[in-house]
Amino acid sequence: TIAHNYLRTRVRLDNIVANYKHLCSFGGHVLAVIKADAYGHGLVETARALAGAGCDAFAIGSVAEGAALRQSGCAGAIVSLVGPVLPEDDAMVLDFDVTPFIHDFDQLARLAALAAGQGKKARVALKFDTGMARLGFCECDVPHLLETLRGMPAIEVVMASSHLATADDPNAFDFVGEQGSKFARVCQGLRDGGLTLEASLCNSAGILAHATDFGFEARRAGIALYGVNPFAGTAREPLGAGLVPAMETVTRIVSVHDLASGCSISYGRTYTAERDMRVAIVAAGYADAYSRGLSNRGYMCLAGKRVAIVGRVCMQLTAVDITGVDAAPGDVIHLLGGEGLGAITAEDLATWWETIPYEVFCLFGLNPREYC
Ligand code: PLP
Repeated sequence: TIAHNYLRTRVRLDNIVANYKHLCSFGGHVLAVIKADAYGHGLVETARALAGAGCDAFAIGSVAEGAALRQSGCAGAIVSLVGPVLPEDDAMVLDFDVTPFIHDFDQLARLAALAAGQGKKARVALKFDTGMARLGFCECDVPHLLETLRGMPAIEVVMASSHLATADDPNAFDFVGEQGSKFARVCQGLRDGGLTLEASLCNSAGILAHATDFGFEARRAGIALYGVNPFAGTAREPLGAGLVPAMETVTRIVSVHDLASGCSISYGRTYTAERDMRVAIVAAGYADAYSRGLSNRGYMCLAGKRVAIVGRVCMQLTAVDITGVDAAPGDVIHLLGGEGLGAITAEDLATWWETIPYEVFCLFGLNPREYC
C-alpha cells in the first residue's frame, strides 16, 4: 500500500491473544476466524500471534486466502468457510492442505475426482443450511450425502458446520434454538451413517450466549477475537464482558484555524458555525475509508476528548470542532481508539456510520498498518 497520508491503523496482537484465551475459557475447540485479512487486522500477523498462544485451527474466507496462509508457514488446520468455486481452487485445496466447507454435490464430485486422480485424500467440512439460507446442504440431503460419500474414498469428512443467523440478537434467541435443534439432527444422522466428525455451529455471539446449551465441540470465533462485544447496547451486554479492542486508527492534524459565527465549512455548506469556534483540519477522508456518512455525525478523539466532525468529510480531509482543546498541526488524533472517556469504539463508529463494527474493521484495515 502506498502511504499517501498520515493515517495509520495500529493493531495490538496481544489483545487479540487475550480475547482468544477468554473465548477458550468457555470450552470447546475454538477456531480463529481470520477471513478477510483477519477482519482487517492482518491475516499472517494475527495467525502467527494466535498460533503462538496455542491456536491450532484457522477459518478463512476463500481457498486462495487459505493457500496464502499456508504459504506463510502456518502449520495449523486451515478451513475455508467458502469452498472451492473454480477448478483452480480444487487444486489449491490439495496442494496447500486447505479443508473447504463443501456446500453442494458438484463441489464434492469435482474434489473427489481430482483427489483420486492424484492418489491423495481431501479433508472436507460439510456445510449445512439450518436457517441462513445462504450456502449449504439441507437436512433432507443427509441420506443422499452419506450414500454419495460411500463411493468417494478420496474424501475424508472431518467436520459438519452450520451458521447462526441471529445469535447476537437477544430478541431472536428462539431462532437460534431452532437452528441448533436442526443441526443436532443433521450431526446425529451423519454420525449414525458412520462419519466421525467435529460439529461446529457457534460464532462469537453463539459462544458467549449459547455454546453451553448445545455442546457442539468446535466453535468459530470472529468478531469477539477483535474485541467487539456482540451484545453491546443490549440487555445481554454483560455476556461480552472482558473483551479488549485490538485496533486503533490515528492520523495527524494538518492545520488549525478560527471559524467565526455564521460562517460555513466544507463542501455543500452543510454546517454553519453558531458561535465563534476553532476547527482542526485533519488528514483523513473517504479515500482512507473514513466514510462520508460520518459528515456532521461522527467524532474523533483528541487528547482524551471527543471532538465533533463539522461539515462534509472530504476525500482526504475532515474538519472537527476543537474549541477549548489545545492542538497544533502535526498532533496525533484518533479516528478509532484514543485515551480516556473520549476513546472511540468500533461500535461508536458503526452507530454514526449506520453499519456494524465488522465493516469498520475491514475498511480501516485497508490502510497502512503498524503492530505493537
Ligand atoms: N462462521 C461463518 C460461516 C462466518 O461467516 C462467520 C463470520 O461472518 C463466522 C463464523 C464468525 O462470526 P463472528 O465474527 O460473528 O464471530
